[in-house]
Amino acid sequence: MSALFHRTCNADLPWADTGDGCYIIDRNGKRYLDACGGAAVSCLGHSDEEIRDAIRAQLDKLPFAHTGFFTTEAAESLANLLAAHAPDGLDRVYPVSGGSEAVEAALKLARQYFLERGEPQRTRFIARRQSYHGNTLGALSTGGNAWRREPFAPLMIDTSHIAPCYEYRGREDGESQEAYGQRVADELEAEILRLGPETVIGFVAEPVVGATLGAVPAVPGYFRRIREICDRYGILLILDEVMCGMGRTGTLFACEQDGIVPDIATIAKGLGAGYQPVGAMLCSAAIYAAIEKGTGFFQHGHTYIGHPMAMAAAGAVLTRLTDGQTLPQVIATGERLKAGLQDRFGQHPHIGDIRGKGLFLGLELVRDRDGKTPFDPALKLHKKVKAAAMEAGLMCYPMGGTIDGRQGDHILLAPPFILTEDQIGELVDKLSDAI
Ligand code: PMP
Repeated sequence: MSALFHRTCNADLPWADTGDGCYIIDRNGKRYLDACGGAAVSCLGHSDEEIRDAIRAQLDKLPFAHTGFFTTEAAESLANLLAAHAPDGLDRVYPVSGGSEAVEAALKLARQYFLERGEPQRTRFIARRQSYHGNTLGALSTGGNAWRREPFAPLMIDTSHIAPCYEYRGREDGESQEAYGQRVADELEAEILRLGPETVIGFVAEPVVGATLGAVPAVPGYFRRIREICDRYGILLILDEVMCGMGRTGTLFACEQDGIVPDIATIAKGLGAGYQPVGAMLCSAAIYAAIEKGTGFFQHGHTYIGHPMAMAAAGAVLTRLTDGQTLPQVIATGERLKAGLQDRFGQHPHIGDIRGKGLFLGLELVRDRDGKTPFDPALKLHKKVKAAAMEAGLMCYPMGGTIDGRQGDHILLAPPFILTEDQIGELVDKLSDAI
């Protein structure tokens, strides 16, 4: 009997012991190739000396200083580095300890922004169905998975949900990508008008949908249309890059590839690369200026914001991600992995779609390719694939087709950026065996 409790974690799981590049080794010495970075976290593998050194150096200097009393070199330099590399205009940084915290901060900042502007009637958010933005009550309110939300209803934040941009299942026969992108983006305008534009704070979305759909990018043009609609009604665009950000898709921020800049962005996971729990919320100078002019400060805070060890780790990770070599490597390795998956599974009768960008790739499992029919959710096929993969020494991130019953089971791949050619082969072979 273990005193530890957690929905997924129990004493029967393998006990992770050490890390070696792209592998986690359990206490029996079995090696697991990490094909998902846990949940798109471990972008630099599990034994990076530079990141370890940066954390050790901070630990030796000072482990903690409360932000109510001090700032630190580690926090200042991380914020400056992030602002320098974020899409133009996102130059104010609020550090937090993880993804849900980043989303909570974003929701509160957006609300405070309108309060400062004398618009207290703006209380609503719009997000998308089949989305996940975190498990704290505010973030859970925004997420569009009925099965996660309903047990906790009524939720804290009034959010309604529109369709995601999900080409494989959403685009109709004969419809161009462009027309599909516009049609599905226009659902946002219809929803804003239905609610009353003066009541809406913002629209929350992932540029590339991670856990809930399995690495689904929007079609070109979708987010430009979304940006236009938000601007037309004075609504904030909040992009959740907790999973898809920090180089995962080949650019530091995934939204760079959509050619738009949000008003607020959230990042986490890859920012600490698993070496420290850390995240951040970024906002435009214009939003922060409204708050400075009003109350003077963002009415928010946690004990561990800007934790020096987390800041040091994130600074070292970000330095690597912006070295001019790592992100081109993500694109090149991502293309090779996708080609390997296409070679192996392109004609597979039960793989309906292979998608994604950079090293953020997804496979959708279907009963038949032509009809795109999902497997019966009761089969819990995704869990079986995960179990078979773990048996074979491969970690992949599974999600079920149970989310509102609108898609097949899928497997998300988000391996470390240091994945080698041999490891691509090992990944594809083991995944093929598991499937
Ligand atoms: N947003 C997105 C898009 C996520 O994928 C996640 C985590 N899977 C979160 C927010 C929440 O992050 P955390 O688990 O670090 O709180």
